[in-house]
Amino acid sequence: MAEPNVIVVGAGMGGLTAAADLARRGARVTVVDRAAAPGGKMRRVEVDGAGIDGGPTVFTMKWIFDGLFGDAGRRLEDHLQLHKADILARHAWRRGGQLDLFADVARSAEAIGDFAGARDAAGYRAFCARAAGMYRTLVGPFIASEKPSQFDLVRRIGFAHVDSLVRTSPFATLWNALGDHFIDPRMRQLFARYATYVGCSPFLAPATLMLIAHVEQDGVWLVKGGMRRVADAVRELAESQGAVFRFGAEVRRILVVRGRAAGVELADGERIEADAVVFNGAPDALAAGLLGDPVRRATEPVPREARTLSAVTWCVHAPTEGFALDHHNVFFAEDYAAEFETIFRRRAIVPAPTVYVCAQDRGGAERPAAGGRERLLLLVNAPPDGDRAALDAAPVADSAFTLLRDCGLLVRREDGAGVATTPAGFDALFPATGGALYGRLGHGFNGSFARPGARSAIAGLYLAGGGVHPGPGVPMATMSGRLAAARLLEDRAGRRRSVIAMKVGR
Ligand SMILES: Cc1cc2nc3c(=O)[nH]c(=O)nc-3n(C[C@H](O)[C@H](O)[C@H](O)COP(=O)(O)OP(=O)(O)OC[C@H]3O[C@@H](n4cnc5c(N)ncnc54)[C@H](O)[C@@H]3O)c2cc1C
Repeated sequence: MAEPNVIVVGAGMGGLTAAADLARRGARVTVVDRAAAPGGKMRRVEVDGAGIDGGPTVFTMKWIFDGLFGDAGRRLEDHLQLHKADILARHAWRRGGQLDLFADVARSAEAIGDFAGARDAAGYRAFCARAAGMYRTLVGPFIASEKPSQFDLVRRIGFAHVDSLVRTSPFATLWNALGDHFIDPRMRQLFARYATYVGCSPFLAPATLMLIAHVEQDGVWLVKGGMRRVADAVRELAESQGAVFRFGAEVRRILVVRGRAAGVELADGERIEADAVVFNGAPDALAAGLLGDPVRRATEPVPREARTLSAVTWCVHAPTEGFALDHHNVFFAEDYAAEFETIFRRRAIVPAPTVYVCAQDRGGAERPAAGGRERLLLLVNAPPDGDRAALDAAPVADSAFTLLRDCGLLVRREDGAGVATTPAGFDALFPATGGALYGRLGHGFNGSFARPGARSAIAGLYLAGGGVHPGPGVPMATMSGRLAAARLLEDRAGRRRSVIAMKVGR
């Protein structure tokens, strides 16, 4: 059979990766994206002449990228300069206290002992062992495999090892499970924040998300030149395998002929025929009919209450003083439960929300010039209602910068410049999502199984991205692109296989 002609809609991480794998394996690939550059959410925002990462900043699971480049006969190190962070994140609380979490477990345990006492230090060690066990149980059968049902997962893990699945505590909430390990509420809050990495509330998400702690210990990497370099590198890889990119090209319709995806129609009316289409936009956009009626049924609609967190972000170029920022910093208020209750039930933001600050000129030995402006991304979680209510960013900014000041950090906004993005802004960038940044909510035991898989309900139409199994985040979206490419090529070859041959990280 002739090699397929494939259109990839979207040059986010899932689309870029699918393009690279498909082109490497002989497909003729054209990637179309309405944006002017690759990366999607991994976008660079220009503020006052400074390019600031306005999307993902925490780069983990390097082994997925090693595998992507390695399979093409390349070395990731030849395409990206990565530096392993010693400090995973610096944390501060409004009511007092500051704690660094390190890549080294022993060093973190010592810091936790000084901060919260010996019992929490011992609890932390047990927590790390539990998180590592969860990760080992799920990395192959769930993360690196075709979307499983609950039964598939048990089968893949092996009926004889079902106890290891039980130990992932799928029925407990993350918040409750953290109570097994920590007495100090600040410690619980620190590790509960991992639920927000996939857009969930720690009070409703499964304890399984503890595995993110292990993922971070395995390596948080700082990318020389900023996160956008990751998208650029995968684009270069795809191009080197023959993929062609067209930016500023919006797909208005996915064409369906005799029940099969057969190409796309662009906003200017141009039609491009194809044997198959990989859609890297939000699955919500398909179900909402934004890509035409024939592909509405490709995937289930996501009800508003099943949307993940949105955010208000500020890309700021300004001087700071009073607090020694590291690269990743988190500033906590005290009532974490109220934050998520307010977002998910009252669809609003509390007066003192937790603030994440990525200080992009810091990390390792790097520091901005004393007194000079530095590049910051600030992020506050927000309800995903950008398609309904316009959220006024100004009072949220006042709350966020006040919390920072209460924790000792003064950002001299008046001496700098900034660009805010609200849920409405994210909804405009990623239509039909309401600004939800992480796909479909993974609350409860069934949550992780609710995302669509790579094969859509339309023949020849495949899905890749953070809204698709195995889920959100840069490495997961990248993995989804690999899975979509594998499924497409398997279907072309007329065979099915549930696990792709891939070396998975420890
Ligand atoms: C503020 C923020 C912070 C984050 N922090 C982290 C973090 O620290 N670490 C981490 O791992 N992850 C983080 N994430 C999540 C991570 O960025 C995403 O999960 C991941 O980048 C999503 O990739 P994707 O493949 O789904 O594509 P997306 O990034 O969603 O890109 C989709 C692309 O498709 C294009 N497209 C869609 N529809 C069409 C159409 N009709 N025609 C043409 N083009 C179309 C869009 O223009 C876009 O370029 C963060 C996200 C945000 C927004």
